[in-house]
Amino acid sequence: MDCLIVGGGLIGLLCARELAREGATVRVVDKGVAGKEASWAGGGILSPLYPWRYPASVTILARWSQARYEEFLRQMKEETGVDPQWERSGLLILDTGERESAQAWAAGNGVSLQLLEGESITRCEPALEETWSEAFWLPEVAQLRNPRLLKALKLSLMWDEVELMEHTEVNRLLQDGGQVKGVETASGRLLADRVILTVGAWSGTLLPGLRKVEPVQGQMVAFRALPGLLSRIVLNRGYYVIPRRDGVILAGSTVEYRGFDKEVTAEGREQLRAEALKMVPALAEHPLVHHWAGLRPGSPEGIPLIGEHPRIGGLFINTGHFRNGVVTALASARLLTDLIVGREPIVIPEPYGILE
Ligand SMILES: Cc1cc2nc3c(=O)[nH]c(=O)nc-3n(C[C@H](O)[C@H](O)[C@H](O)COP(=O)(O)OP(=O)(O)OC[C@H]3O[C@@H](n4cnc5c(N)ncnc54)[C@H](O)[C@@H]3O)c2cc1C
Repeated sequence: MDCLIVGGGLIGLLCARELAREGATVRVVDKGVAGKEASWAGGGILSPLYPWRYPASVTILARWSQARYEEFLRQMKEETGVDPQWERSGLLILDTGERESAQAWAAGNGVSLQLLEGESITRCEPALEETWSEAFWLPEVAQLRNPRLLKALKLSLMWDEVELMEHTEVNRLLQDGGQVKGVETASGRLLADRVILTVGAWSGTLLPGLRKVEPVQGQMVAFRALPGLLSRIVLNRGYYVIPRRDGVILAGSTVEYRGFDKEVTAEGREQLRAEALKMVPALAEHPLVHHWAGLRPGSPEGIPLIGEHPRIGGLFINTGHFRNGVVTALASARLLTDLIVGREPIVIPEPYGILE
């Protein structure tokens, strides 16, 4: 089987790994450097924010992946020497307004979610002020360093003999009689029996008829701090802080509908800093050392599109992961591979079907 994967973000690179391990000949093309767009820009939190707000189809992919990430990253480290730093930091949510739905969701999905009150909040995370009266504590939530995972994946793909063509933009799909034949790039045609579109926020540029996938900008900043200042991922009013092992603390993220504009703004930076300081006042003493943005592949309700195109045989799609493309990635890549190789799928594929 000859597979051409268009788009080398986390979703494309994981699909490449799965397919190569099923014996396919795999080539990945990316318009820039693979693994430098949304998948690089993200926070690496291995849980949806406010997970009860998502449909079951997103929860199912997240839960499947969460159960496998620790072992998968251990394997990545062993194969490549690059440690993606999986860490069970837990998630502390400071806005508890949706108590009933949160608790019902946790009970229904076997997730540990505790309601903390008063002093138990600062006992859980001493970096917080004592002003919070209630918080949800999800001790099982983990994180990873996504740039490191992408680096490890790219290395492992070399050993899997996956060909990676960077700086090669795909301009259009080639089809004949309802069957995909390959793609056209600026430097010529690339032919394949199966084409897999994993171009994230850019999906609509190659398949304009696709159910809406649109770019949604997210800005992030990083504070340089010392290890130990913060131990938990903390979330409040949609903003979060993430402690990395080396002391760096990420603060995210904005949600902006600005087309393909990836420029960061002074307002974005100030907003992220202010929201981070509300949660961890001690951050005021620490410098902001980075500020960046990425384009999420936004989709209705955050439900990704995973499957074969209904009218173009041999064309497969795996996109639209919106805010949860890291936490759902393992399951998404596995599900698409199941569908391509004709294996029993890990989950029912219908909710992710490609509609036009
Ligand atoms: C600020 C921010 C924070 C986030 N935090 C989290 C989080 O904590 N947890 C979580 O689970 N998710 C998070 N996400 C979401 C997650 O990062 C995305 O859902 C996921 O990375 C999407 O992966 P992808 O591979 O589809 O897209 P991308 O990583 O964007 O990859 C798409 C690739 O396609 C290539 N491409 C595009 N067009 C073409 C073309 N015509 N020809 C060839 N190549 C092309 C691009 O160059 C790119 O490399 C966050 C996102 C952002 C922006």
